[in-house]
Amino acid sequence: MTYLHGKVICGGTALGTAYVFHRNAGQVKECKTACPADEQHRLENAVEAVKEELTGCAQQAKSDTAKEIFEIHRMMLEDDDVLDFLHNAVENDGLTAQKAVFQAEQYFSQLFRDTPDDYMIARIDDIRDVCGRLTAYLSDEKYADKPHEPFILAANELLPADLMRFGAENMKGIVLGSGSVYSHASIMIKEMGIPALICENINEIKTGMSVLLDADGGTAYLEPDEETVRRFSCFKQSAVSNPFEGLPCKIYVNIANPSEVSGELLKKCDGIGLFRTEYLYFGRTDPPGEDEQFAIYKEILEKADGKNVTVRTFDTGSDKAAECLPLEKEENPALGFRGLRVYSLYPEVFKTQLRALLRAAVYGNLRIMYPMVTSCSETEEIRRIILQTAHELSEQGIPYKIPLQGAMIETPAAALLSGKLAQTVDFFSVGTNDLVQYTLALDRQSGRLDSFNDKSYEAVTALIKTAAENARKNGIEIGICGELASQPELTGKWLEAGIDYLSVSPAALKK
Ligand code: PEP
Ligand code: MG
Repeated sequence: MTYLHGKVICGGTALGTAYVFHRNAGQVKECKTACPADEQHRLENAVEAVKEELTGCAQQAKSDTAKEIFEIHRMMLEDDDVLDFLHNAVENDGLTAQKAVFQAEQYFSQLFRDTPDDYMIARIDDIRDVCGRLTAYLSDEKYADKPHEPFILAANELLPADLMRFGAENMKGIVLGSGSVYSHASIMIKEMGIPALICENINEIKTGMSVLLDADGGTAYLEPDEETVRRFSCFKQSAVSNPFEGLPCKIYVNIANPSEVSGELLKKCDGIGLFRTEYLYFGRTDPPGEDEQFAIYKEILEKADGKNVTVRTFDTGSDKAAECLPLEKEENPALGFRGLRVYSLYPEVFKTQLRALLRAAVYGNLRIMYPMVTSCSETEEIRRIILQTAHELSEQGIPYKIPLQGAMIETPAAALLSGKLAQTVDFFSVGTNDLVQYTLALDRQSGRLDSFNDKSYEAVTALIKTAAENARKNGIEIGICGELASQPELTGKWLEAGIDYLSVSPAALKK
């Protein structure tokens, strides 16, 4: 038995068979080959095997969209430019098949990125996916599209869209090789309540190996002995109390996937404080339509049975790229088109979401809020669009209600302007993940900057206090929905700052 230590993304314990997922082909050990003919043969076999695998995936796909994605991926492996590149890299440059795939991924991603064509930019994820499958095959790990048995996922890099692809059903634990506990993928993992760690040396984990994950203790045991397994199965049964119970403020939960909402979860809290609707837009070629969204929001409101449901309008862009809403390449995407800035590029998509929300508002206590606010003109403009949308629904004789509207306080500008901003909205919700990133100039995706993070959150607390004071003066509510709300040791600080509610990951309530 060996073990790896790491940083905790989400606590809990899990035992299962490892499944190694290669998001990128960057970890190639051998670059040159003495036998190009052998490598060429391996490459051809890999291409054929992956094509066959993709044909199978397309046949089993449950929706036309998924089928289309698998077919596009298979077609990439029939494309002359892709095949020529791979073969030349092996035959003329003497590279191993794996290195050739790695270079193809780099080359075509850059090529697609450099085109002014949104369609081609959206193909970057496709080439990465296809190359990931080839790499998995070439590294002698038979690629199963996704395991059908309970498994522990090991991956060097993971994006939110990958998590959607694996789903929570069989994924019992996750070991990541890189990233930060504040990345969107990590937040999503917490919301799914899956025990997870970020560890170095995850290359020691091989597909098929038994892994016991003690995420509470920050350790992953590889091929654990019977005694260790027995010790942890005893622990699992000991219930720990919910640290947010009995606090003098409301406790909401954050969700990303409608299936996370259950009567049991809603019993433990005062409602939903953040529904990250961008997850509805991932992994599909067209954005969700009005009726599809209306049905989702209505169902959640009905389940909430009068409790508040706070829906954030879609916050795509940066690391939350949605294939169906492609964006041009940016040097600094976290400072570029994300959050409400994307609405100016896709006004009709935004309007569709607003129509669905206004229609659903009739069925419960819906509140909506906007991401990445930096000025009052932005919230005023959205209010104008809301009124226009309401007018259109009324003209069409469709029942609707205008919900309460909130601004996310996740930029220093929003906090500093909160006195004026409070006059344009009905509530504030502090997004500490981005507020920390933009206040301390600290990339939330990077795990390497941890030592530069001020764990006393002095500057961020000052901004939150300003926003809370302005909320109080203007008689509006303020809460925190970023990850810092889920840390029980910080609760006292937020209550002292004048916060009315905390919105935490469902996993935080299970503790
Ligand atoms: C935040 O920034 O704290 C937040 C809640 O939004 P997200 O993590 O989705 O960017
Ligand atoms: Mg945010």
